[in-house]
Amino acid sequence: MEMEQIIDKYFRAGRLPHIWCPGCGNGIVTGALVKAIDKLSLAKDDVVVVSGIGCSSRASGYLDFNTVHSAHGRALPVATGVKLAEPRLKVIVVSGDGDATAIGGNHFIHAARRNIDLTVIVYNNNIYGMTGGQYSPLTPTNSKATTAPFGTVDRPFDIYDLAKGTGATFIARATTFHTQLLTDVIAQGINHEGFSVIEAISACPISFGRQNKKGSAANMMKLQRDHGVMLAAYDKLIEEEKADKFPIGVLYKAQAPEYTAEYDKVVAKAQKGAK
Ligand code: SF4
Ligand code: MG
Repeated sequence: MEMEQIIDKYFRAGRLPHIWCPGCGNGIVTGALVKAIDKLSLAKDDVVVVSGIGCSSRASGYLDFNTVHSAHGRALPVATGVKLAEPRLKVIVVSGDGDATAIGGNHFIHAARRNIDLTVIVYNNNIYGMTGGQYSPLTPTNSKATTAPFGTVDRPFDIYDLAKGTGATFIARATTFHTQLLTDVIAQGINHEGFSVIEAISACPISFGRQNKKGSAANMMKLQRDHGVMLAAYDKLIEEEKADKFPIGVLYKAQAPEYTAEYDKVVAKAQKGAK
């Protein structure tokens, strides 16, 4: 389907143009999401998009699915409630790096632990964009931010390690340069029965880019191109070559009991009165 047809079908009439800054990666990630939904031929009424607060979380307002724009960091508990109430729905959470791993960090680890069938897309642009460029748990050490004008001393999370360590059963990473891959891994994550995490490496040229002298938005995408390496090729690199690279693609996939299915079994037992 051509992009114009995709916009007509999946975006709310009259809500565009969006408010994102020129060169922002949020539109590319959101475009990949709708292309993934289109690729899977999902009925619009069977899709729920839940967001928290932040630049990327504005995506829910533009999309013509069932959507909830919730509170900062609270998209996952809202999505958990939706999924438990109606497990047949495909529930997708769009969240920024701060929203998902700082304010919502506690919800992230427990949703992963439960292996509930949600798909979380973490728009990782390494900074709090909307509130003025403060450093987040995904800001690389020594990077500048409005709250770290001489460079942050914090060590960042690695989303892959965080998700794997807490029980997620599908973990993938792609960038706004690798849009086909991003669409593909989002589609795979939606199809996976369990807690799926897709780290979408994105650019905030206004807050992160300017403060860290990363050049234009196009240059930030070139950095994604040069540093993202498909997992199979990444694994063959020697340690020194890995230093400034990161693996992309499906990084981990496993099968484990899914939360709403297990919950249904308990409900059935309770209805029979059996313990
Ligand atoms: Fe995008 Fe950054 Fe602008 Fe927010 S502040 S819209 S993340 S470029
Ligand atoms: Mg951010």
